[in-house]
Amino acid sequence: MQKLNNASAQKRLTIKLIVAAVVILAAAMLLYLFYPQTKQAQQAADIKYTDSLLAMDTYMTFTVYGDNAEKATNEVKALITDCEKSWSVTDENSEISRLNRTGEAVLSLRTKDLLEKAKAYCRYTDGHFDPTIYPLVRAWGFTTGEYRVPASDELEELKKLTGADKLILLDDKAILSEGSMVDLGGVAKGYVGDLAMQTLKQNGIKSALISLGGNVQTLGVKPDGKNWIVGIRSPYDNGLIGKISIGEGCVITSGAYERHFTAEDGTLYGHIISPFTGKPAANGLVSVTIVADTGSKADALSTALFVMGTEEAIRFWKENAGFEVIMLSDDGTLFVSEGIYASFEPLDSKDVKTICEIKR
Ligand code: AMP
Ligand code: MG
Repeated sequence: MQKLNNASAQKRLTIKLIVAAVVILAAAMLLYLFYPQTKQAQQAADIKYTDSLLAMDTYMTFTVYGDNAEKATNEVKALITDCEKSWSVTDENSEISRLNRTGEAVLSLRTKDLLEKAKAYCRYTDGHFDPTIYPLVRAWGFTTGEYRVPASDELEELKKLTGADKLILLDDKAILSEGSMVDLGGVAKGYVGDLAMQTLKQNGIKSALISLGGNVQTLGVKPDGKNWIVGIRSPYDNGLIGKISIGEGCVITSGAYERHFTAEDGTLYGHIISPFTGKPAANGLVSVTIVADTGSKADALSTALFVMGTEEAIRFWKENAGFEVIMLSDDGTLFVSEGIYASFEPLDSKDVKTICEIKR
């Protein structure tokens, strides 16, 4: 009997040893198979490539992670240069200049898509963002640098040339009403940022931050898995009024400080024009930052809400979902919408007197 017990105990022990050996072998094989890949992926993500570009009247910087980062960044730079050639209102060979000169032009698919989006944002913002603003922008001298204050009757005439209905988009071409002209400056950088993100993704990039003249767009999160920290600039100087922590997204700001002139009577006129008054928008806001999932949305809305002014912009945000705002008014009140209030960290700034959370 004792002998029998010893034999079955030995058998159980042998089975246990075999099972343990199989488990250890399987674990070793898994480690062998996946460890090099994990390590490789980590090393690829650690490769950081930085570059810059002067384009679209602004200084752009690129921070791209991954073993394909340099090639991907070069493709993005070529893309931006190409888009600038198509959309610049000052380059007489651009698609947009040709359209403005002749009133009718066949467009590339990309330009047509951008115009469609611009028209849609014009409607969505009740005409505050207006891609046909160019006659007014030009009259104030914002493209040439020959600044002037146009007379009221001139502005009244030019206002008649603006509005989404002045731009008709057919299969592959655009038609403008007599005298109307397009300016995509209020949305082009955001849109090109979206194209840049697509290019980075196509190159296998999972983590990147691009700043197109202060407009920040990110891909994924940082290689260490943490959020990006994006500074919000003061419209008065180079200081920051706060920081915001974001994953993948866009943080785009509009303000008169970016381009303006001071008239003889001391009045400061900014480059964002109200299609309703024909004059540079001055409705109580000094800067508007939009946080959204696409650059074209954030860019068009930052321009539109700046034109709307404090009260109208708050009402627009309350009635429309899908984006968040940080807006500084000229009395030093900083309005931060509830969706990003917790991820916004105010910094000690003389330009911000009060912080006000806005809720739906
Ligand atoms: P942003 O910095 O994105 O607000 O764009 C400002 C630029 O958009 C200006 O320099 C003009 O080229 C153009 N712009 C000015 N006013 C408007 C407007 N009401 N709607 C659309 N674009 C505008
Ligand atoms: Mg804009």
